[in-house]
Amino acid sequence: MSMIDMTLAQLADGLRQGEMSSVEITRAYLDRIGQTEKKVGAYITLTPEMALSQAEAADRARQSGETVHPLCGVPVAVKDNICVEGVKTTCASRMLEDFVPPYSATVWEKLSAAGCVLLGKTNLDEFAMGSTTENSAFHLTHNPRNLAHVPGGSSGGSAACVAAAETPFALGSDTGGSIRQPAAFCGVVGMKPTYGMVSRYGLVAFASSLDQIGPMTKTVRDNALALDLLAGYDRRDTTSVKRGYTPMGRDIGRGVKGLTIGLPRQMFAEGLSDGVRRAVTHAAKVLEGLGATVKEIDLPSLEYALPAYYVLSSAEASSNLARFDGVRYGHRAAEYADLEELYVKSRSEGFGPEVKRRILLGTYTLSAGYFDAYYKKALQVRTLVIRDFDRAFEDFDALLGPVAPTTAYRIGEKSMSPMEMYLGDVHTVPVNIAGIPALSMPCGADENGLPVGLQLMGKTFSEPMLYRIGGALEEALGCTWKEATL
Ligand code: GLN
Repeated sequence: MSMIDMTLAQLADGLRQGEMSSVEITRAYLDRIGQTEKKVGAYITLTPEMALSQAEAADRARQSGETVHPLCGVPVAVKDNICVEGVKTTCASRMLEDFVPPYSATVWEKLSAAGCVLLGKTNLDEFAMGSTTENSAFHLTHNPRNLAHVPGGSSGGSAACVAAAETPFALGSDTGGSIRQPAAFCGVVGMKPTYGMVSRYGLVAFASSLDQIGPMTKTVRDNALALDLLAGYDRRDTTSVKRGYTPMGRDIGRGVKGLTIGLPRQMFAEGLSDGVRRAVTHAAKVLEGLGATVKEIDLPSLEYALPAYYVLSSAEASSNLARFDGVRYGHRAAEYADLEELYVKSRSEGFGPEVKRRILLGTYTLSAGYFDAYYKKALQVRTLVIRDFDRAFEDFDALLGPVAPTTAYRIGEKSMSPMEMYLGDVHTVPVNIAGIPALSMPCGADENGLPVGLQLMGKTFSEPMLYRIGGALEEALGCTWKEATL
């Protein structure tokens, strides 16, 4: 088996047994990138020299006999809105085109301390706003499963490079679905962890009350292994939760007998494509066959989650993005008469159309006279969504639904209509609003052979349960990762 086909678990085994070195693995992935990246366009920045020197260091550490992390020497790709000291972090925006952060995100510090090797920084929708990666200011990313289609977004680059075997795993961020939806579109596994589990320090903020970083991998078990590395309290993120974690994949293999799984009716209503409905319903049947009790459930507030999400996330974005003023950070206009013009010109030139749309939306909903009608209402909806989920988890171990109403769009198909694009987020945003975890994993294909993803949602900190159910499903469905043919 070639190294680019191996899972994290297999690479860790190979390294431990001395069957392969980190330098060999890193070279194999860099070679693969050399062959396929022109077609896929998953990366904004590649860091081959840095990768090879990190790989050499990982090999030295392992050979010296010191105890190393099992993933020491394994390569990773990082979404380009997560800071890595000394490496450009652009957020796929002209605004940060040349920004080199003077510090690293906590997640990168953790990966680096474990000995992981950075292959590069991946493409995204500008500032993580979007669902196709078409909003990147730099270039398109193509879905490795079908190059005429989008990889989803906003973590489209991260999903695409895992699907294309251009990395064994990647980091994404998820504010309203940006890990789960591209994972579904590209046929890989992605986790949006419980809010507060993974530090946001060093993640360029979009909507701080919703943002979470999470892993994107080839398999469910790999995802648990990667999340083990990322989870943990960080005093530099004030919303980070102080608690201990047992291994996330601890219950994989225990089966689903005796578990109760809910199908939220609102997630199977009109608008779901036939291919998606078929694959997700089949997965529910398979769970039943494995001994789980599967029942429908009503979560009435889900109907209002999408508008609430767009009010809340845009409001937070308008405030978070105020810092890009051409003075402290980012692009500065070449000529300006006064301070006002400096702001206006720098921001007009630096931000793309979708980011401007969000800033306008957010500024409007926060303005005096509209605040109560929009922002306050959205917060009330947020409370209702949290309550609906709380009630559901009194009776259910997890909820199962589609990740997105359709499979991957064709490139260009949705980019003209922002409204249509927003509607595609209907099934992912409730999870962020409630702060709960959700695992996105492949569960089949539609009539065009494009991957379908399902999501398993659980109460806060129930990640081990989601991996347990996901692991059982992965095995029973036989939807195991295969490198995309490119
Ligand atoms: N597609 C959603 C949006 O555009 C979610 C983005 C995200 O999760 N970062 O807001």
